[in-house]
Amino acid sequence: MILLKGAEVSAKIKDEVRTALASCSVLPKLAIIRVGERPDDLSYERGAKKKLDSFGLAVESYVYPEAISDAEFKKEFAAINANPEIHGILLLRPLPKQICEKEIEQMIDPAKDLDGISPVNIAKVFCGDASGFAPCTAEAVVEILKANQIPITGKRVTIVGRSLVVGRPLSMLMLQENATVTICHTRTADLKAACRNAEILVAAAGKAKMLSGEYVAPDAVVIDVGINVDENGTLCGDVDTESLEGIASMATPVPGGVGAVTTALLAKHLVRAACSGQRTGRTE
Ligand code: NAP
Repeated sequence: MILLKGAEVSAKIKDEVRTALASCSVLPKLAIIRVGERPDDLSYERGAKKKLDSFGLAVESYVYPEAISDAEFKKEFAAINANPEIHGILLLRPLPKQICEKEIEQMIDPAKDLDGISPVNIAKVFCGDASGFAPCTAEAVVEILKANQIPITGKRVTIVGRSLVVGRPLSMLMLQENATVTICHTRTADLKAACRNAEILVAAAGKAKMLSGEYVAPDAVVIDVGINVDENGTLCGDVDTESLEGIASMATPVPGGVGAVTTALLAKHLVRAACSGQRTGRTE
């Protein structure tokens, strides 16, 4: 079984970013907005900062206390959103319950919405309009397949997970690539059969090692989006990768798979936002 390492795809994206930066007159700057100190958020923030630094891009964190009120957070958010020196925003979610996340999704400038959370960008993904920003993780899955010359057209793709962050947008990106897509969730009647039917299986359920070799068809390609901690406190995906030996043809590792490509795409989206003059959702 071939391991599809994210670092190789990330290096390719870094080259693209370097080329785009060469003809860019500004230093692209990302604002990472974090409320509270959730370990997941801190870890994602560290990873994103490290990646953007290594790509030569600027990042500034805006950190607020867990108890910040809805009104105060919206005021702060609006100021960052309107700041012309900030070209892209990464909002770490979920936000604390007192903040209305839906309203923030509607507030974010679609042109700075690098992780595709605004209704405008979500609609563009569903319409097949590439001028918006797709969620980086969903796009990372397609990018890994393409970078490894794995054909998608005509393939049976099963996605386990239907969240608006990963499963649903990914299903639309896969359709645009002419795959035949099956989306699974907790009410799927026969998950094993749906997974075993897949030539490309994507796990995005957020359940440690829930998919083992018996869910995988011979020679299938398995992309593991999950980031979980197992019973020993070790980082792992949704797939029990060792159990795929002798069954799957290729699989992404966790860590070192999809996550590395997600942050590289965040960097790519930032450069596009800052340098190409593209303005999603606006008529200029
Ligand atoms: P989420 O919002 O919790 O959604 C999980 C989805 O999986 C839901 O649609 C749920 O079904 C489905 N699901 C859960 N358990 C299932 C089961 N036993 N059988 C079938 N379906 C099941 O999670 P998310 O935000 O999409 O994230 C998914 C995973 O990806 C998490 O581990 C997260 O940490 C990881 N992630 C990774 C990256 C990256 O860069 N690599 C980025 C974002 C997220 P229902 O809809 O029926 O509840």
